Amino acid sequence: MSGQMLSRPVPRADVMAIDAYVPGKSGAPGAGKVHKLSSNETPIGPSPMAVEAFRSVADHLAVYPDGSASRLREAIARRYGLDAAQIICGNGSDDILSLLAHAYLQPGDEGLYTEHGFLEYPIVIRSAGATPVAARETALKADVDALLSKVTAKTKVVFLANPNNPTGTYLSFAEVKRLHAGLPAHVLLVLDAAYAEYVTRNDYASGIELVATSENVVMTRTFSKIYGLANLRIGWAYGPAHVIEAVNRIRGPFNVNGAAIEAGIAALADAAHTQKAVAHNDRWLPWLTERLAALGIEVTPSVGNFLLLRFPGDGGRDAKAADAYLAARGFVLRAVVAYGLPDCLRMTIGTAEANEGVVAALTTFMKGKGGA
Ligand SMILES: *Cc1c(COP(=O)(O)O)cnc(C)c1O
Repeated sequence: MSGQMLSRPVPRADVMAIDAYVPGKSGAPGAGKVHKLSSNETPIGPSPMAVEAFRSVADHLAVYPDGSASRLREAIARRYGLDAAQIICGNGSDDILSLLAHAYLQPGDEGLYTEHGFLEYPIVIRSAGATPVAARETALKADVDALLSKVTAKTKVVFLANPNNPTGTYLSFAEVKRLHAGLPAHVLLVLDAAYAEYVTRNDYASGIELVATSENVVMTRTFSKIYGLANLRIGWAYGPAHVIEAVNRIRGPFNVNGAAIEAGIAALADAAHTQKAVAHNDRWLPWLTERLAALGIEVTPSVGNFLLLRFPGDGGRDAKAADAYLAARGFVLRAVVAYGLPDCLRMTIGTAEANEGVVAALTTFMKGKGGA
């Protein structure tokens, strides 16, 4: 019992090997009005109906929520044409990703993800005691052959954000199906479709069909992005009955709170609001892509509600200086050093005022009149 010799509790070594997730900054000290463009939140805000539903819960705070979030699952099922019994809700999709990792990975196993994939994946893989394995990307895009070449006898889960954060790139449904076809039947493919509602490409699919026609695919979704409810923490997954059943065993008994349930149901009912958010993105995503590229910034083509910007680096025009320059003017972007992209920043599509302001500031910055 070596534990008897220790002076205090010691976490598992693989837990201490985790770099904690660092959320986007929310403030810009010294700047006046702040535009938070660091966490891919919607500039449109939530549906007023969702806010109203949230408020109504104030009268019932002493009562436990419905532990199975039945009405929310039924509302999701109706909206997307699914079977409510094959849906599980979570305290954000982060909760679901963590539950999937814990249900399907153990020490000795490998969890696979892509080079610039969402950073929650290596965190949840490690927290389950397993080993994260990154497959290289091609031109900042997931590469099916690279992923398949990393599959070993130890691989149990593959996490793919489609579209991916922070790159904004996506795999066509044909490519996702090719990935699935190349995986052994016992490997769970997790399709994280957090930005699915924003994608307007004909060759894209969030994965619903693949879940419905296989036994080893799960799709995760969130109310944090287009529905504007990040603060309430609502995510969900659609999967084969046996996967949902396994994850239900280990989730918190009340992992979705009552305010989240009511606001989520109301948000789903307000289709006009969702359309407004898509229309705003469709207008500003190409506008920003063009304007920023014209300044000499390399903009990765994105199908999400954010852009990855690569700075040239010459004459002090690097990502770090741009970040400081923008922050001093109230524009808070996301540094993506932890994603292995030290020369890039990620910018969420903001309000018209924020988008125009960033372009104006970067126009000056890129002419080299910058300095912080
Ligand atoms: C924002 C985001 C999520 C959503 O996380 P929540 O916990 O639901 O807020 C999931 N996956 C990716 C890739 C994201 O960017």
